[in-house]
Amino acid sequence: MLKLHNTLTRTTEDFESLVPGKVNFYACGPTVYDYIHLGNARTFTAFDMVVRYLRFSGYDVNYVRNITDIDDKIIKRANENNEDFSAVTQRFVQAFREDMQALGLLAPTHEPRATEYVPRIIEFIEKLIAADKAYIAGNGDVYYAVRNFAEYGCLSNRNIDELESGARVEVNDVKRDPLDFVLWKMAKPNEPAWDSPWGAGRPGWHIECSAMAIDLLGETFDIHAGGRDLIFPHHENEIAQSQGVTHKLFARYWLHAGYLQLESEKMSKSLGNFFTLRDLLTEHPAEVIRFFLLSSHYRSPLSYLPDSLSQAKSALSRLYTVLRDLPVTVHMLDKIKEKLVQPHTTATYPFYQKFMDAMDDDFNTPVAFSVLFELAHTAQRLRAIDEMAAYHHVALLKYLGNVLGLLQEDPVQFMQTGVTDGDGEKINALIAAREAARANKNWVEADRIRDELQSLSVVLEDGAGGTQWRRG
Ligand code: AMP
Ligand code: ZN
Repeated sequence: MLKLHNTLTRTTEDFESLVPGKVNFYACGPTVYDYIHLGNARTFTAFDMVVRYLRFSGYDVNYVRNITDIDDKIIKRANENNEDFSAVTQRFVQAFREDMQALGLLAPTHEPRATEYVPRIIEFIEKLIAADKAYIAGNGDVYYAVRNFAEYGCLSNRNIDELESGARVEVNDVKRDPLDFVLWKMAKPNEPAWDSPWGAGRPGWHIECSAMAIDLLGETFDIHAGGRDLIFPHHENEIAQSQGVTHKLFARYWLHAGYLQLESEKMSKSLGNFFTLRDLLTEHPAEVIRFFLLSSHYRSPLSYLPDSLSQAKSALSRLYTVLRDLPVTVHMLDKIKEKLVQPHTTATYPFYQKFMDAMDDDFNTPVAFSVLFELAHTAQRLRAIDEMAAYHHVALLKYLGNVLGLLQEDPVQFMQTGVTDGDGEKINALIAAREAARANKNWVEADRIRDELQSLSVVLEDGAGGTQWRRG
């Protein structure tokens, strides 16, 4: 039974979907004015893993992840570049999609954009005004009146007064309460604007997620997710908006990913301590980045250290080495898949069970990873004793790796990545020359070539079937 930690109740609960077999899932997406950084990628990868695991567990998941394509930061960037805001967003939506695809993340079922939702957002705000949850301020902006929503603070587990004293809230003389937040912003000259009953303007940030989630997933849906910086105010405000209109529970389970940190500080654009995913992808295989991002529990903070990705690469290489040495074909996997996960009948079942138990325990990927290493280790050990049993362990390794979006590359290619074609030819030629030197018992020359290969970060593995190599 899947259990997950629900921020709303602050407990780990059994997961039961509203409709058996179906999960309606909403994750807040990016604001598209720049390339995403590794911190953003951590959150998106965490929920990609959640969606994959829900699907593997048999749920039909309707996965919505929005795109915020109108916002102050976008307008600022467009002004700096002297271009239209839509040129900025078009470019970065495209870049975001490329980055997500390069990292091997599943495309969401729906990817709504704020600018496509303006009419629905306006209707939503009209309903909030009619319900006395929103008001038109002196400057023409429309604000949400937090004091008119009794449960305000339910997600962050603080009441309005505590929130007011604890949070840095913008003081502004047109608001009735400092925590009131903007639903509709009047346009300044030359700003992008849409007509509305309150004049030309644009939606505030929070309202788009309420309008989209309710439209695509219903008034009450299963899971809402985001990074933990979104708990307050963004998700608190989504609840206030949605429940202020529907009077029904909005999302039933709230999942929040921990921060990716650089020197114990949250990676963020505003602090300037970030690496773009795009830059990292030019230097590291996508799967290595994915492995690193999933190597700690999704709710825990994850520190990025100078050697994090090289460590992830060597850990993954250990798994790929087994996949290379005992290559299971797709056909073989299909044939034995059912058998591998049968209780009592197979030696591999305890590994499967341990993996499932870990993932059912609020998606405990570090323990799930340890099962992958145990499988690899057992397969290596069994290789000389019972080759068929070894193959079964490798087959399960590949099968479970797939659940996490890992281990599906060609093992030799994975271990040699980072090498351009030219390099590959040079390396093969050096290996052949070293073998010739060894055959002639010219050990000095053979050692010299080994050193030269080492300087190219190539690690040689001499075995019965010849010399294999991988990137160190
Ligand atoms: P943004 O485009 O800034 O709205 O962020 C997109 C997603 O990335 C949100 O779910 C954020 O909570 C998340 N996020 C931002 N910074 C970090 C970080 N350092 N670690 C983990 N998630 C983050
Ligand atoms: Zn949102």
